[in-house]
Amino acid sequence: MIDDLPQFEPIPVRPEQELQEEEIFYPQWRCFCCQDSGLVSLYLVQLVMPKYNPDRDKWVLCQGINCNASKRWENVPIENFDTRFIPSICKKLDLINRENWRNTVKEQVNIRQLAQKLKMPGSVDRTENDNYRIQQRKQEIEQISHE
Ligand SMILES: [Zn+2]
Repeated sequence: MIDDLPQFEPIPVRPEQELQEEEIFYPQWRCFCCQDSGLVSLYLVQLVMPKYNPDRDKWVLCQGINCNASKRWENVPIENFDTRFIPSICKKLDLINRENWRNTVKEQVNIRQLAQKLKMPGSVDRTENDNYRIQQRKQEIEQISHE
């Protein structure tokens, strides 16, 4: 009997589905600590190590628990890397970067919504300057049509 089957609500993969339709960029990295490069992102490294200089200092290896991107560096001897970013630190950095991206996406949406509002006629209060320019244009057109 069909009545015996349970009824489920679908579970969207991403709650930001409507954002996707508006082509707002949201990265699909598996690991936001290293952005799937295996090396912790520079600005995240500098949250922990403000004086970090990637030209001078050892590259920081990502040790995120769900990250396997550092495998790409496995042929390079481990002593070439800074390995102090243990999984718990990488996890925190991953969350920070995700949050930053969420905010970036939110900002993009806000800007887009504002832009759409501005595009709608009559929705914006014209400034004095705009009114002046519109009046001027009208007079020009009237003059032309009278000639
Ligand atoms: Zn990683």
